[in-house]
Amino acid sequence: MKEKLHFNSKTIHGGQSPEKAYGAVMPPIYQTSTYAQSTPGGHKGFEYSRTHNPTRQALERSLASIEAGTFGFAFGSGLAAMDAVLKLLKPGDEVISTDDLYGGSYRLFTKIFEDFGIRFHFVNMSSMVHIDAAINENTRLIWVETPTNPMMNVIDIKAVATLCKSKNILLAVDNTFASPYLQQPLVLGADIVMHSATKYLAGHSDVILGSLVTNDKNLAEKLGFIQNASGAVPGPMDSFLTLRGIKTLHVRMQRHCENAAQIALYLKQHPKIEKVYWPGFEEHPNHQIAKSQMTDFGGMLSFVTKGANYDSAIRIVENLKLFTLAESLGGVESLAGHPASMTHASIPKEIREQSGVVDALIRLSIGIEDVRDLISDLDQAIG
Ligand SMILES: *Cc1c(COP(=O)(O)O)cnc(C)c1O
Repeated sequence: MKEKLHFNSKTIHGGQSPEKAYGAVMPPIYQTSTYAQSTPGGHKGFEYSRTHNPTRQALERSLASIEAGTFGFAFGSGLAAMDAVLKLLKPGDEVISTDDLYGGSYRLFTKIFEDFGIRFHFVNMSSMVHIDAAINENTRLIWVETPTNPMMNVIDIKAVATLCKSKNILLAVDNTFASPYLQQPLVLGADIVMHSATKYLAGHSDVILGSLVTNDKNLAEKLGFIQNASGAVPGPMDSFLTLRGIKTLHVRMQRHCENAAQIALYLKQHPKIEKVYWPGFEEHPNHQIAKSQMTDFGGMLSFVTKGANYDSAIRIVENLKLFTLAESLGGVESLAGHPASMTHASIPKEIREQSGVVDALIRLSIGIEDVRDLISDLDQAIG
């Protein structure tokens, strides 16, 4: 019954039922590594917490429910979740991904998995032609991130899924920026959806956690095996915090989107602003795709001020008082970042700039404060 609920109810009830021992409405934090057995192998479904933990299981069921999936897996971080997906591959396999990928994902691909004999291609996914051109007989996985970070390009998940299905290639989507409130990649045809739950899902900048969800039983068996065999699992406290965060995901996302829309409009009319990147603008090159696959345009945006360079962009982010200068995104508080020196510093400058991540670019994660205070802060910092 609970799987038939609307999204705004699934965040609270999806995959959840009161705990059996005392009826606790929230699952207790089962801070235990092991479980008593009555005879060898005689246990209540839990034998060791790397394999299963009741708090983590409650979270995994919630994650599956909100992503319209069947099988959910929680990991110690978003990158640990990605690491598990890449372990489905073998030396010689090839992966195609976006050319403005999250910096940490790019580092994981190129600095770790390339050494294990996996080849990565980074292409502009605005057109299926670019993806198609990079496919060969070794292509096993296409890794999509949309909207992209920090350029806010939107990739047509359904079109990529159709291409993948025709060539028997796995499609994984990093849904961190959108959250399932805005888009559900499995419904659009993806095989695996990944999250840095550190961001919108947990939503309060107090936990590092990652997740994978799939509908495919075969994939779920492999991912579950990797989760246990490699062991990058989150602890029960972090699982609890993430589950607690998910319960307000829909109300937070609604406000993130409303505030971001107002700030995007404010920046656009500001005489000192050169360009604002936000998929809600009609002139955004992927606006139509954003409108068709997302329910709103998200809480992230980037901008460049006129005549700005590395130093002047840094001065603006340092001048902000209510926005915190910090890595990360998706929390209740607004954050500002300078991708060239922060999140994207691990990507070589030439590669970075090809995709638009110039030295003058500033990225904002719009929080859920009163938008008037956020606009005043931007006003004084831009000057
Ligand atoms: C933060 C982030 C990651 C990595 O997640 P961690 O939880 O920091 O390991 C991956 N993808 C995107 C889009 C992110 O924003």
